[in-house]
Amino acid sequence: METIQRTKIVDVLKSTAYGSTVNVKGWVRTRRGSKQVNFIALNDGTTINNVQIVVDTELFGEEFLKPITTGASLSVNGVLVQSQGKGQSVEIQAKEIEIYGTADPATYPLQKKGHSMEFLREIAHLRLRTNTFGAVFRIRHNMAYAIHKFFHDRGFFYFHTPIITASDCEGAGQMFQVTTKNLYNLKKDENGSIIYDDDFFGKQTSLTVSGQLEGELAATALGQIYTFGPTFRAENSNTPRHLAEFWMIEPEVAFNDINDNMDLAEEFIKYCVQWALDNCMDDIQFLNNMFDKELIARLQGVLKEKFIRLSYSEGIKILEEAVAKGHKFEFPVYWGVDLASEHERFLVENHFKCPVILTDYPKEIKAFYMKQNDDGKTVRAMDVLFPKIGEIIGGSEREADYDKLYNRIQELHIPMKDMWWYLDTRRFGTVPHSGFGLGFERLLLFVTGMANIRDVIPFPRTPKNAEF
Ligand code: ATP
Ligand code: MN
Repeated sequence: METIQRTKIVDVLKSTAYGSTVNVKGWVRTRRGSKQVNFIALNDGTTINNVQIVVDTELFGEEFLKPITTGASLSVNGVLVQSQGKGQSVEIQAKEIEIYGTADPATYPLQKKGHSMEFLREIAHLRLRTNTFGAVFRIRHNMAYAIHKFFHDRGFFYFHTPIITASDCEGAGQMFQVTTKNLYNLKKDENGSIIYDDDFFGKQTSLTVSGQLEGELAATALGQIYTFGPTFRAENSNTPRHLAEFWMIEPEVAFNDINDNMDLAEEFIKYCVQWALDNCMDDIQFLNNMFDKELIARLQGVLKEKFIRLSYSEGIKILEEAVAKGHKFEFPVYWGVDLASEHERFLVENHFKCPVILTDYPKEIKAFYMKQNDDGKTVRAMDVLFPKIGEIIGGSEREADYDKLYNRIQELHIPMKDMWWYLDTRRFGTVPHSGFGLGFERLLLFVTGMANIRDVIPFPRTPKNAEF
């Protein structure tokens, strides 16, 4: 076969160099044909769209074409021509075809369309080859890029916080332990507690649930930073919105108060959504048509509105009124309750019909480091609530006062031995500062319209599942 420089299908489809000979390589989506002509839809992952290869059946012979079935991989040399069929601009008239690899239809699992999401999760190693997951993971890449660009353009520094941590104080959830100890033969003291002296780090360590505390160390030195890394929570939450391993983006900004923090969160998330609409429209259009006819309208919707900002207490009042009028929630509503997703979504989808930033939560349901309000009951927290998702961002202004922070740590019996370095930010040159955490996969749920968080991360880790 003649050697011709490969052209990516995304570029071929935009080309108008009719009559020129090109090479494309990719995987067969479908082949259909007759005695005269065969049509191969070829995809190379560069775009949701396939290029159509037109094959003269007689020229290649039926025997040669037989193994070209769904999933087979090919290299094709051919002439670029303007397409006759509707919906595509160009097609390729094949001159030479090399079959790299076949995919036996008897065993290749991706045959007919319309596999269930559950089935595709069982073959997560191959689901990447479907249109749906191609679209999702191209969007995932684009969102990661947009996030770095957003912060870089605004003078934030990307700061890497550790994945292994010795502090168990974030209170954000159950942690996974990290150890090299022989679990069959654990050394214990007279009270039966495990001795960690001889463990790898000489103390008990876990996978991080948040990079925030270290992020604050950096923000109070570099001014404005963000983290973007893997995060682990061992809570047994089998919901469509929770993963045991997920990615979190955590900006932290010195001198920002809660209002600056809300402005940043709103600008940030709108930027990401706008980026998706500007750069991933083919994929979004596909997902809109396949799964969620409201997707594009919902994305455009959040860009239009200024997010509603109201206090937790006002939010509870609205929910209580809804209950009084007969609205049924699964979980109870009262001042002090940690809102469930159904409550958050009621405020967003039924009441305001617009994203909501809820502030000033009861201190009992929020982390120790949040700035305490003068009422003695609430803290300067801010959660961004989104349609279809509920909480997408959780953040706060941080307690900058050493004594107040110290007392709160004592009240909650958080071991001081874990906290000395964190408290030093308030001991030396303390400043007001704020930040938040955005769950990357929650953002992707929103942008892709997928219904389950397991379908926006390549290889999901959830309770009882760590395959691939
Ligand atoms: P939730 O109440 O939804 O369980 P949280 O309040 O425990 O979340 P935070 O500790 O505030 O979450 O974390 C910040 C953000 O990280 C959340 O707003 C969410 O977007 C994301 N997040 C938290 N836990 C998970 C998880 N288990 N899987 C995926 N994303 C998560
Ligand atoms: Mn939260």
